[in-house]
Amino acid sequence: MRQAEIAQLLAGADDPGLFSAAEALTRENFAGKVYLRGVVEFSNHCRNNCRYCGLRAANQNVHRYRLGVPDILACAALARELSIGTIVVQSGDDFSYTADDIAQVIVGAKADSNVAVTLSLGDRTEAELAHWRSCGADRYLLKIETFDEALYAHCRPGLTVADRLTRLAALRRAGYEVGSGVITDLPGMTPDILAADLLKLADLDLDMIAVGPFVPHPDTPFGRERPGSILTAFRAMAILRLLAPLANIPSTSALNALRDGAREQGLTVGANVVMPSLTPETVSPDYAIYPGKNAFRAGARERVEAAREAVRRVGLTPSTAVGGSKRRHHG
Ligand code: SAM
Ligand code: SF4
Repeated sequence: MRQAEIAQLLAGADDPGLFSAAEALTRENFAGKVYLRGVVEFSNHCRNNCRYCGLRAANQNVHRYRLGVPDILACAALARELSIGTIVVQSGDDFSYTADDIAQVIVGAKADSNVAVTLSLGDRTEAELAHWRSCGADRYLLKIETFDEALYAHCRPGLTVADRLTRLAALRRAGYEVGSGVITDLPGMTPDILAADLLKLADLDLDMIAVGPFVPHPDTPFGRERPGSILTAFRAMAILRLLAPLANIPSTSALNALRDGAREQGLTVGANVVMPSLTPETVSPDYAIYPGKNAFRAGARERVEAAREAVRRVGLTPSTAVGGSKRRHHG
């Protein structure tokens, strides 16, 4: 698909054709199964100042927390008990956790189960990334957010697209299944930027692609900007399914933050993954990347069951499989 055609689809040129083609391809490739990834949001400290994110260092209105390794491992044990095939260990860019701390999490989580471990820890060093892979980490999620250099610099002060791409290449070299993605409708993102971003994501030949709409957080510089369009996010997900038929594509919680029920609808336009939070109720409301994140005030068990019910509501089957990259296993 060329950029002009993508731009037309993003503008709504053929929603019925786009969505039904993406849904059919997803069903064909994943046999109507949806993988669950349990997210353990273990620290909301961050040294960065992304203008869109509620966890940015300059936001003084965050009640900051850190979970210790045993608490993180308790979440992994819960994942096992609930038959969830993958845990996603995520935090702000919090360098107070050493390479060894994270290694303990990886080794401990995998000690007596075949759970897959995805790391989403931001811009850690290449040596750390390689070390964690050698400890058994399976996947790493590092969203590019946008490939547009000026927009990136505006959204992520002091950081560059080139640096993020270098890290994605290091992850690939280390042997991870690599995930990336963008935020749709970031303030300043034009339709042309998004169309180019989708093509570049496809060119990266990723194992996972996460696309979520921008959700304004009042305590950030982007707090008064317009929320992203759910429809644009759906179109982006569907286009990516066509461009990357075997990639694991989650239906993100940002969708549900904008409209209750949008996450399950995302499973009908190309997504094949949902990511309920396993974060303990005592701290999960403080992982407030954007309003509505973890708004479902319930324990992790209820969140997982709600995710499974959402999958069933759209006629799909929640899978307990590890859900590794089909792109890799099929060559
Ligand atoms: N600190 C790590 C990083 O930035 O890669 C991982 C945690 S970060 C909270 C996870 C993702 O949240 C980011 O990649 C970004 O896409 C998303 N995010 C943050 N603020 C957002 C917002 N206001 N709207 C939508 N997505 C947002
Ligand atoms: Fe930190 Fe990630 Fe939020 Fe940026 S998006 S402020 S790196 S937690």
